[in-house]
Amino acid sequence: MANVIVSPHYDDEFIGCYSQIISGKIDKVIVVTDGGKQFAYIDMEPDEYKNARKLETKKFCLDNNIKDSNIVYLNFPDGGLSNTDKLSIYLKLKKNVNKSDTLFIPDMWGSHPDHFITAGLCIFMPSKHKIMYSITRRLPTPYNKRIIKIDSDKKWSDFKKYYPTQFKRLKLSNFPFRDREEYLELS
Ligand SMILES: [Zn+2]
Repeated sequence: MANVIVSPHYDDEFIGCYSQIISGKIDKVIVVTDGGKQFAYIDMEPDEYKNARKLETKKFCLDNNIKDSNIVYLNFPDGGLSNTDKLSIYLKLKKNVNKSDTLFIPDMWGSHPDHFITAGLCIFMPSKHKIMYSITRRLPTPYNKRIIKIDSDKKWSDFKKYYPTQFKRLKLSNFPFRDREEYLELS
């Protein structure tokens, strides 16, 4: 029985589930894509950028007592899940999840296709308990919703420290640096 975060990209685990990770509740993180999506401002070679992002997630997880062997990289193309065979994504995910696990899955209302595809596939995963986490959206309330107030200064200064490549990206994109996290209990 483990608490497992499924993260579409390197950083979603932090943005969506920071409070869960720093409280030591998370046993495993599965990152679905390879971090390879390039943006104009990035001054790195593609492989260098992928590796930098991977190390950002890895360092944050290791510092919060998630074992190296429990940080799983599925390496599907960043920004490319809509063009990837869905069954192969599902099977790779399923290999890393047990029926007794609690799965933290991204919200399906995020505008990024990698997010709603990951969420859609996780819904069918045979795991005991599923909790949806939000990235930027207010989650609807057909289920039991939990809103966790977080120390916003600490969270976002940790983000700047652990995820420097992404901090710059979010700054440039008017990302809402929220002072709360939202979770929906799905089952
Ligand atoms: Zn993402």
